[in-house]
Amino acid sequence: MNIPLRDFSELELKKEIAGLGEKPFRAAQLAGWLYKKAALTFEEITNLPAPFKEKLKARFCVNSLSLVSKDISAEDHSVKYLLRTQDSHLLETVLILQGKRRTICLSTQIGCKMGCRFCASGKEGMIRHLSAGEILDQIAWVNQDQQCHSSNLVYMGMGEPLDNYDHVLKSIRAAGAPWGYEIGQRRITVSTVGVIPGIRKLARENLNQLKLSFSLHSPDNAVRAKLIPSNRKYQLDEIIDALKQVRDQFKRKITLEYILIEELTDRDEDAQGLAKICLGLKAKVNLIPYNRIEDEAFKRPSREKIQAFQQELEKAGIRVTVRYSAGQDIDAACGQLRLREERKARPKRS
Ligand code: SAH
Repeated sequence: MNIPLRDFSELELKKEIAGLGEKPFRAAQLAGWLYKKAALTFEEITNLPAPFKEKLKARFCVNSLSLVSKDISAEDHSVKYLLRTQDSHLLETVLILQGKRRTICLSTQIGCKMGCRFCASGKEGMIRHLSAGEILDQIAWVNQDQQCHSSNLVYMGMGEPLDNYDHVLKSIRAAGAPWGYEIGQRRITVSTVGVIPGIRKLARENLNQLKLSFSLHSPDNAVRAKLIPSNRKYQLDEIIDALKQVRDQFKRKITLEYILIEELTDRDEDAQGLAKICLGLKAKVNLIPYNRIEDEAFKRPSREKIQAFQQELEKAGIRVTVRYSAGQDIDAACGQLRLREERKARPKRS
C-alpha cells in the first residue's frame, strides 16, 4: 500500500520532500495540489518535474480511496459516496447541501466498536481506524467531484472519532490550516458517543471554537446503557462533567444529538430528563427521528409525537431542531450503505 500524501502534516511533508533530495518550496507546491486543488492523481499535477513525480509515485499516493458508487438523493439533493480503501474496505462519505452551506459528513473508522444498537456502522464490529490521510482524502473526493470547496465538516459518519483520537485530531488541524483546506474550526463539528478520555484530551488542545456534539439519545443511564454499551464504562454524569470542560474551553455551545425511538426514548419522562441535562449544560438539541436499519425492531415515533416532544423542550426554553437524516432514500444514515454492500458481497453462511 502506498502512503497517502495527506497523512503528513506540513512539517512532516517538508521532511519527506527534503528526504527525497528536493528543494523545500516543492512541499508548499505539492500541498497546494493536495488541498486547494483537491488533486486525486499524480497525472493532474502539472508543474512538478517528472523525475520528482516518479520518486513520489514509488512510495506515496495522491488519494488512497477509489469511488465505488455515488448516489444523489431525489429528496434533498444530498450526495452519498461509497469509497474503497487500498485494502478493499468500504466507507461512506456524505455531502449535505443546505443553502450556501456544503457540509461533508466524514467517516473515521471502518466499522466501530461502540456497538450502538440503533446504528448500522457497528453491526459487524470494528475493523480498523482510518488514517488522517484517509479522512482528508474523503474531502478531496467531494471537492473534486463537486468542483468547489466545501464549507463545513461534521465528523458524524462511520466510527467513533474520539476512539481514533490522534488521526482525527491530525485531520482537523490539516482541514483548518492555511496550507490545508482552510475550513475554519468554527465550521468543524466532532460528534462523540461519550469517550471521556478523548473529551478531556480535546479540552486541552488549542482548538479554538471547534464544535462538539454529544450523542445522548437517552437521559436515563439504564436505558442509555442498553442502547449504547459504552455507557457502562463511561457513565452519563461523568460525560456531562467532561462536556462542561470542553464548553468552557472552546466557548461554543454543545449540541446534544437525540434519536427518537418509539416508547424507548420519546416518553414524557425522557423529555423532562433531556430538558434538565440541556439546561445544566446550556446546550441545544438536535432531535433525530430514528431511521430504520436492518436487524433491529425499533420504531420511529409518529409526527405528532415528535412535534409534542419538541414543544415540551421548547417550553423549557431550549433551542431545538429536528433533523431527519439526510438522503433517506439513498440510505444516508451512518453505515447503512456499507453494511448492505458488504453483506451482498459475502456468501451467506449456512
Ligand atoms: N460515534 C459518533 C459519530 C457517529 S455519528 C457518535 O455517536 O456521535 C452518529 C450519529 O448518527 C448519531 O448521533 C445519530 O445522529 C446518527 N444515527 C446512527 N444511526 C442512526 C439511525 N438508525 N437513525 C437515525 N440516526 C442515526
